[in-house]
Amino acid sequence: MELYCTTDKNKYEINIPYGSGEYYTQCPACSYLRKPQNQKKKCFGWSRDINVGHCMHCGSSFVEYRKFDKNEKLKIKSEKFKDTQQINTIDQKYLSLSLGLDSNFGEFLKTNFSDEKIEQVMEEYHLGMTKDKSVIYWYIDEKNRVRSGKIMQYDAKTGKRVKESSISWVHSELKRKDILPNDWQMTRCLFGEHLLAKYPNANVCLFEGEKTAVICSMYFPENICLATGGSEMLSKSVCEALRERKVLVIADCDKVIEWKQKTMEINHSLGLNLKPYDKLNQLLTDEQKEMKWDLADYFLMGTI
Ligand SMILES: [Zn+2]
Repeated sequence: MELYCTTDKNKYEINIPYGSGEYYTQCPACSYLRKPQNQKKKCFGWSRDINVGHCMHCGSSFVEYRKFDKNEKLKIKSEKFKDTQQINTIDQKYLSLSLGLDSNFGEFLKTNFSDEKIEQVMEEYHLGMTKDKSVIYWYIDEKNRVRSGKIMQYDAKTGKRVKESSISWVHSELKRKDILPNDWQMTRCLFGEHLLAKYPNANVCLFEGEKTAVICSMYFPENICLATGGSEMLSKSVCEALRERKVLVIADCDKVIEWKQKTMEINHSLGLNLKPYDKLNQLLTDEQKEMKWDLADYFLMGTI
Protein backbone atom coordinates (compact mmCIF):
# COMPACT_ATOMS: atom_id res chain seq x y z
CA MET A 1 0.00 0.00 0.00
CA GLU A 2 1.22 3.52 -0.71
CA LEU A 3 1.07 5.89 2.22
CA TYR A 4 1.36 9.62 2.47
CA CYS A 5 3.02 10.94 5.60
CA THR A 6 1.21 14.13 6.66
CA THR A 7 4.13 15.03 8.93
CA ASP A 8 7.11 14.94 6.57
CA LYS A 9 4.98 15.11 3.37
CA ASN A 10 6.69 12.06 1.84
CA LYS A 11 5.27 9.02 0.13
CA TYR A 12 6.04 5.56 1.52
CA GLU A 13 5.45 2.02 0.34
CA ILE A 14 4.33 -0.40 3.03
CA ASN A 15 2.83 -3.88 3.15
CA ILE A 16 -0.38 -4.02 5.17
CA PRO A 17 -2.00 -7.46 4.99
CA TYR A 18 -5.73 -7.77 4.46
CA GLY A 19 -7.72 -8.12 7.67
CA SER A 20 -9.56 -6.10 10.25
CA GLY A 21 -8.63 -3.92 13.23
CA GLU A 22 -5.20 -2.49 13.77
CA TYR A 23 -1.94 -3.69 12.30
CA TYR A 24 1.44 -2.93 13.85
CA THR A 25 4.76 -2.93 12.08
CA GLN A 26 7.96 -0.89 11.60
CA CYS A 27 7.57 2.79 10.75
CA PRO A 28 8.51 3.61 7.16
CA ALA A 29 9.65 7.09 8.17
CA CYS A 30 11.87 6.45 11.18
CA SER A 31 12.58 2.77 11.89
CA TYR A 32 15.70 2.65 9.75
CA LEU A 33 17.07 5.69 11.65
CA ARG A 34 16.75 4.00 15.03
CA LYS A 35 19.44 2.15 16.95
CA PRO A 36 19.98 -1.35 15.46
CA GLN A 37 18.33 -3.05 18.44
CA ASN A 38 15.22 -0.88 18.01
CA GLN A 39 14.84 -1.10 14.25
CA LYS A 40 12.56 -4.15 14.46
CA LYS A 41 10.22 -2.56 17.00
CA LYS A 42 6.64 -2.22 15.84
CA CYS A 43 6.24 1.48 16.48
CA PHE A 44 3.84 2.09 13.60
CA GLY A 45 0.14 1.28 13.89
CA TRP A 46 -2.35 1.30 11.04
CA SER A 47 -6.08 1.39 11.64
CA ARG A 48 -7.91 -0.52 8.93
CA ASP A 49 -11.20 0.96 10.12
CA ILE A 50 -10.40 4.60 9.54
CA ASN A 51 -7.41 4.14 7.21
CA VAL A 52 -4.92 6.24 9.09
CA GLY A 53 -1.58 5.37 10.63
CA HIS A 54 0.50 6.77 13.42
CA CYS A 55 4.03 6.16 14.66
CA MET A 56 4.48 6.09 18.42
CA HIS A 57 8.18 6.75 18.04
CA CYS A 58 8.48 9.69 15.65
CA GLY A 59 4.89 10.91 16.00
CA SER A 60 4.26 10.94 12.24
CA SER A 61 0.74 10.48 10.89
CA PHE A 62 -0.09 8.66 7.65
CA VAL A 63 -3.01 8.37 5.27
CA GLU A 64 -3.49 6.26 2.16
CA TYR A 65 -1.73 7.93 -0.76
CA ARG A 66 -3.68 7.21 -3.89
CA LYS A 67 -7.09 8.06 -2.51
CA PHE A 68 -6.08 11.56 -1.60
CA ASP A 69 -4.63 13.33 -4.56
CA LYS A 70 -6.35 16.54 -3.52
CA ASN A 71 -4.65 18.32 -0.64
CA GLU A 72 -7.94 19.30 0.85
CA LYS A 73 -9.05 15.75 1.43
CA LEU A 74 -5.70 14.94 2.96
CA LYS A 75 -6.09 17.69 5.46
CA ILE A 76 -9.52 16.51 6.53
CA LYS A 77 -8.25 12.98 7.03
CA SER A 78 -5.22 13.95 9.08
CA GLU A 79 -7.23 16.32 11.24
CA LYS A 80 -9.72 13.60 11.91
CA PHE A 81 -6.85 11.50 13.19
CA LYS A 82 -5.59 14.23 15.48
CA ASP A 83 -8.99 14.48 17.10
CA THR A 84 -8.77 10.92 18.33
CA GLN A 85 -6.92 12.24 21.35
CA GLN A 86 -9.48 13.90 23.56
CA ILE A 87 -8.34 17.10 25.25
CA ASN A 88 -10.08 17.94 28.50
CA THR A 89 -10.35 21.61 29.35
CA ILE A 90 -11.20 23.78 32.31
CA ASP A 91 -13.83 26.49 32.23
CA GLN A 92 -12.24 29.89 31.61
CA LYS A 93 -14.19 31.36 34.55
CA TYR A 94 -11.88 29.64 37.05
CA LEU A 95 -8.94 31.41 35.46
CA SER A 96 -10.71 34.78 35.51
CA LEU A 97 -11.71 34.36 39.14
CA SER A 98 -8.16 33.51 40.21
CA LEU A 99 -6.31 36.39 38.52
CA GLY A 100 -4.17 38.57 40.76
CA LEU A 101 -0.82 39.21 42.39
CA ASP A 102 -1.72 38.75 46.05
CA SER A 103 0.27 35.53 46.15
CA ASN A 104 3.67 35.22 47.79
CA PHE A 105 5.21 34.90 44.34
CA GLY A 106 3.32 38.05 43.33
CA GLU A 107 4.76 39.84 46.38
CA PHE A 108 8.21 38.72 45.35
CA LEU A 109 7.72 40.10 41.84
CA LYS A 110 6.38 43.40 43.18
CA THR A 111 9.47 43.84 45.37
CA ASN A 112 11.91 43.15 42.54
CA PHE A 113 10.40 44.46 39.31
CA SER A 114 8.74 47.62 38.03
CA ASP A 115 4.94 47.92 37.77
CA GLU A 116 5.26 48.11 34.03
CA LYS A 117 7.13 44.80 33.82
CA ILE A 118 4.71 43.09 36.16
CA GLU A 119 1.74 44.33 34.19
CA GLN A 120 3.28 42.79 31.11
CA VAL A 121 3.79 39.48 32.93
CA MET A 122 0.16 39.44 34.06
CA GLU A 123 -1.07 40.18 30.58
CA GLU A 124 1.00 37.35 29.09
CA TYR A 125 0.82 34.61 31.70
CA HIS A 126 -2.44 35.38 33.57
CA LEU A 127 -1.00 34.49 36.97
CA GLY A 128 -3.57 33.42 39.51
CA MET A 129 -3.63 33.19 43.27
CA THR A 130 -5.28 31.10 45.96
CA LYS A 131 -6.60 32.00 49.43
CA ASP A 132 -3.41 30.75 51.05
CA LYS A 133 -1.30 32.97 48.76
CA SER A 134 -0.06 30.24 46.45
CA VAL A 135 0.45 31.21 42.83
CA ILE A 136 -1.48 29.51 40.01
CA TYR A 137 0.45 28.98 36.79
CA TRP A 138 -2.26 28.46 34.17
CA TYR A 139 -1.49 26.05 31.36
CA ILE A 140 -3.21 27.42 28.24
CA ASP A 141 -2.57 25.78 24.89
CA GLU A 142 -2.09 27.23 21.42
CA LYS A 143 -5.82 27.13 20.79
CA ASN A 144 -6.39 29.10 24.00
CA ARG A 145 -7.86 26.13 25.81
CA VAL A 146 -7.21 26.07 29.55
CA ARG A 147 -5.70 22.65 30.27
CA SER A 148 -5.28 23.21 34.04
CA GLY A 149 -3.39 25.35 36.54
CA LYS A 150 -0.43 24.40 38.69
CA ILE A 151 -0.61 25.63 42.26
CA MET A 152 2.69 26.38 44.00
CA GLN A 153 3.77 28.10 47.18
CA TYR A 154 6.77 30.46 47.45
CA ASP A 155 8.56 32.48 50.08
CA ALA A 156 7.65 36.12 49.41
CA LYS A 157 11.11 37.38 50.46
CA THR A 158 13.46 34.96 48.69
CA GLY A 159 11.19 33.92 45.82
CA LYS A 160 12.19 30.31 46.52
CA ARG A 161 9.68 27.48 46.62
CA VAL A 162 8.42 26.42 49.99
CA LYS A 163 9.44 22.78 49.85
CA GLU A 164 7.14 21.67 52.65
CA SER A 165 4.13 22.81 50.66
CA SER A 166 3.24 20.28 48.00
CA ILE A 167 2.35 21.11 44.42
CA SER A 168 -1.28 20.83 43.48
CA TRP A 169 -3.36 21.28 40.32
CA VAL A 170 -6.61 23.12 39.70
CA HIS A 171 -8.20 20.06 38.11
CA SER A 172 -7.39 17.98 41.21
CA GLU A 173 -9.03 20.60 43.40
CA LEU A 174 -12.11 20.69 41.15
CA LYS A 175 -12.31 16.89 41.26
CA ARG A 176 -12.24 17.01 45.04
CA LYS A 177 -15.16 19.42 44.99
CA ASP A 178 -17.02 17.13 42.56
CA ILE A 179 -17.01 19.87 39.94
CA LEU A 180 -15.02 17.69 37.55
CA PRO A 181 -15.65 13.95 37.14
CA ASN A 182 -13.14 11.57 38.68
CA ASP A 183 -11.90 10.26 35.34
CA TRP A 184 -11.02 13.78 34.10
CA GLN A 185 -7.40 13.75 33.00
CA MET A 186 -5.12 16.59 32.10
CA THR A 187 -3.27 16.59 28.79
CA ARG A 188 -0.04 18.47 29.21
CA CYS A 189 1.02 21.38 27.09
CA LEU A 190 3.85 23.87 27.58
CA PHE A 191 3.40 26.61 30.15
CA GLY A 192 2.90 29.79 28.10
CA GLU A 193 2.04 27.85 24.94
CA HIS A 194 -0.81 30.28 24.12
CA LEU A 195 1.85 32.93 23.48
CA LEU A 196 2.95 31.03 20.36
CA ALA A 197 -0.36 31.91 18.74
CA LYS A 198 -0.19 35.49 20.01
CA TYR A 199 3.34 36.07 18.64
CA PRO A 200 3.60 33.89 15.53
CA ASN A 201 7.07 35.14 14.56
CA ALA A 202 8.84 35.44 17.89
CA ASN A 203 11.74 33.22 18.90
CA VAL A 204 11.29 30.95 21.87
CA CYS A 205 13.25 30.23 25.05
CA LEU A 206 12.19 26.99 26.67
CA PHE A 207 12.88 26.49 30.39
CA GLU A 208 12.13 23.85 32.99
CA GLY A 209 10.33 25.94 35.62
CA GLU A 210 7.35 28.25 35.25
CA LYS A 211 8.94 30.79 37.58
CA THR A 212 12.10 30.81 35.44
CA ALA A 213 10.04 31.46 32.31
CA VAL A 214 8.06 34.27 33.97
CA ILE A 215 11.15 36.00 35.34
CA CYS A 216 13.28 35.54 32.22
CA SER A 217 10.44 36.98 30.09
CA MET A 218 11.19 40.30 31.77
CA TYR A 219 14.83 40.08 30.71
CA PHE A 220 14.10 38.80 27.17
CA PRO A 221 11.10 40.89 26.08
CA GLU A 222 11.72 40.06 22.41
CA ASN A 223 11.31 36.33 22.98
CA ILE A 224 8.54 34.08 24.16
CA CYS A 225 9.55 32.31 27.37
CA LEU A 226 7.91 28.93 27.91
CA ALA A 227 8.37 26.14 30.44
CA THR A 228 7.90 22.40 30.45
CA GLY A 229 6.99 22.46 34.15
CA GLY A 230 9.52 19.85 35.20
CA SER A 231 12.74 18.21 34.06
CA GLU A 232 10.85 15.03 33.12
CA MET A 233 8.30 16.98 31.11
CA LEU A 234 10.47 17.73 28.09
CA SER A 235 8.75 15.41 25.64
CA LYS A 236 7.90 14.96 21.99
CA SER A 237 4.21 15.55 22.55
CA VAL A 238 4.64 18.98 24.17
CA CYS A 239 7.39 20.02 21.73
CA GLU A 240 5.13 19.43 18.73
CA ALA A 241 3.85 23.00 19.33
CA LEU A 242 7.37 24.32 18.62
CA ARG A 243 7.39 23.28 14.98
CA GLU A 244 8.68 26.00 12.61
CA ARG A 245 10.11 27.99 15.52
CA LYS A 246 13.60 29.03 16.52
CA VAL A 247 13.93 27.61 20.02
CA LEU A 248 16.68 27.83 22.61
CA VAL A 249 16.33 25.12 25.24
CA ILE A 250 17.72 26.33 28.56
CA ALA A 251 18.00 23.64 31.21
CA ASP A 252 18.57 24.19 34.92
CA CYS A 253 22.26 23.77 35.70
CA ASP A 254 21.88 20.23 37.05
CA LYS A 255 20.08 18.99 33.92
CA VAL A 256 22.19 20.44 31.12
CA ILE A 257 23.49 17.14 29.76
CA GLU A 258 20.23 15.28 30.21
CA TRP A 259 18.24 17.95 28.43
CA LYS A 260 20.78 18.25 25.63
CA GLN A 261 20.41 14.53 24.98
CA LYS A 262 16.62 14.73 25.09
CA THR A 263 16.57 17.78 22.82
CA MET A 264 18.62 15.90 20.21
CA GLU A 265 16.24 12.95 20.34
CA ILE A 266 13.22 15.19 19.89
CA ASN A 267 14.85 17.01 16.98
CA HIS A 268 15.65 13.71 15.36
CA SER A 269 12.23 12.16 15.62
CA LEU A 270 10.06 15.22 15.02
CA GLY A 271 12.32 16.98 12.56
CA LEU A 272 12.57 20.05 14.78
CA ASN A 273 15.49 22.40 15.25
CA LEU A 274 15.63 23.04 18.99
CA LYS A 275 18.99 24.38 20.16
CA PRO A 276 20.25 23.34 23.56
CA TYR A 277 21.98 26.09 25.53
CA ASP A 278 24.88 24.62 27.47
CA LYS A 279 26.76 27.67 28.72
CA LEU A 280 24.83 28.17 31.96
CA ASN A 281 27.34 26.19 34.00
CA GLN A 282 30.14 28.45 32.81
CA LEU A 283 28.33 31.43 34.34
CA LEU A 284 27.94 29.87 37.76
CA THR A 285 30.22 29.24 40.72
CA ASP A 286 30.48 25.76 42.25
CA GLU A 287 28.33 26.89 45.14
CA GLN A 288 25.61 28.17 42.81
CA LYS A 289 25.72 24.90 40.88
CA GLU A 290 25.39 23.03 44.16
CA MET A 291 22.22 25.05 44.79
CA LYS A 292 20.91 24.00 41.34
CA TRP A 293 20.55 27.49 39.98
CA ASP A 294 18.64 28.30 36.83
CA LEU A 295 18.97 31.32 34.57
CA ALA A 296 16.44 33.33 36.58
CA ASP A 297 18.52 32.86 39.73
CA TYR A 298 21.52 34.17 37.81
CA PHE A 299 19.66 37.25 36.61
CA LEU A 300 18.18 37.89 40.04
CA MET A 301 21.60 37.78 41.68
CA GLY A 302 22.14 41.45 40.95
CA THR A 303 18.69 42.35 42.20
CA ILE A 304 18.35 40.67 45.58
ZN1 LIG B 1 8.20 6.63 12.97
